[in-house]
Amino acid sequence: MAKPRYPITRDERLKMPTDQSHPEHAALPSDASMTAWRLLHIEPDDVDALKLKLTLRDALPAGSAIDHVSSLDEGLEVLQERVYDAVLLGICESGKQSLDTIKHFTADVDDTPLVVLSSDENLRAAVDAGRSGASAFLLKSKLTSEQLCGALRQALEHPSYEGELPERRKEPRYALEAAAVIFPIEADGKPGREIAATTVDISLNGMVVLAQQDSDLVPDICLVGVECPDGMYRYATVEWRYRRLALPAIQFGGRFLRRVDDPLHASRLTPRFDPQQLRFTTALDAAVLQEWVARGILRPKVVDRVKVCPHCEALPTFREGCPQCGSALTETSQVIHHFACAHVAPAIEFDGDSLTCPKCRAQKLVVGADFEYLNGPQSCRECDWNDATLSLIGECLRCGHRFAGDQAHEKEVFEYHVDRLDPLALIDRA
Ligand SMILES: [Zn+2]
Ligand SMILES: [Zn+2]
Ligand SMILES: [Zn+2]
Repeated sequence: MAKPRYPITRDERLKMPTDQSHPEHAALPSDASMTAWRLLHIEPDDVDALKLKLTLRDALPAGSAIDHVSSLDEGLEVLQERVYDAVLLGICESGKQSLDTIKHFTADVDDTPLVVLSSDENLRAAVDAGRSGASAFLLKSKLTSEQLCGALRQALEHPSYEGELPERRKEPRYALEAAAVIFPIEADGKPGREIAATTVDISLNGMVVLAQQDSDLVPDICLVGVECPDGMYRYATVEWRYRRLALPAIQFGGRFLRRVDDPLHASRLTPRFDPQQLRFTTALDAAVLQEWVARGILRPKVVDRVKVCPHCEALPTFREGCPQCGSALTETSQVIHHFACAHVAPAIEFDGDSLTCPKCRAQKLVVGADFEYLNGPQSCRECDWNDATLSLIGECLRCGHRFAGDQAHEKEVFEYHVDRLDPLALIDRA
């Protein structure tokens, strides 16, 4: 029997036109099209949260998970850190208040399907929810697992690139045929082997590309470079939401990753002081950054030069200290300079209350008019050193190493830049 031309995953197989003669396809159980869902449930009422958990207990596809948070703000925070397939938003208020909650949510979250679970039985509330971008509106009091799963499936089976979409997710797509390049982002953050591609279309939320590549070799998160009209490549981090055969190529549809989801987000490319290591570091490992630089994607830029410990490269503190042993415990004796006779001697030699010069015996000397105090020689309390001047001494905050200030290593601190793709600029031309 002829083998499929590409090794294709179960996911893609299910998205291919149904081929009943395919033996594996026929063998799949009827609900195999349901892949696990990651759901976020925002519900201030704990009893309602528990009820929902019980309702959905056996109804969700195997491996699904529901995370519950009790407030909208918590929910928005979690959504910055994790990608969810859909959000269930439980609402206790009614009327305008409930609408405000939905609007608040949809303003902050661009493309995660939203199912509103309301205790407001008013028909108006459902209409308003839909207008504000909710995929579905269900009443808490009449919630069944069938109804909820149905609504979720409907919301989830329309990724942003196809089909009928709720208003909020319907970012218009613009046909765009441009040369593109896909850099897989490997599990360790390094770039994989680059793959030539062509863009099909682009929206503010994502893009579709064609590439001749085993889709198994392309991880879910990739950096995609698109050749812009000025001939420059600009890059966006994309999470593929579907892959489908488009012989002889494979079509990849994905959404742009934003903020903390993006492994190459600016915050991970900017040096910060790491209080554990006591060094300037970037969130992305130096070896990983170097790989991206070598591939011509990231450009390093020196933003500072710092003096570091010659042993361990952590930051030292600096003080004036003993050039022999490095101790900061040094002292100086005060010296008096008598203007009239130019005698200079330690202050204690100018005896008594009457301040008498030991050389010329002048008495009752007045500071400022007859004499001045000077700093005398320095001496170390921890060794036998004494001399006129102290040295700059570094002491490493991490390993404790003490060293002469001029032995500190100077290290450049880099930040990294990637030319970011601005979908809007391309859409304007598309
Ligand atoms: Zn050190
Ligand atoms: Zn000393
Ligand atoms: Zn004198």
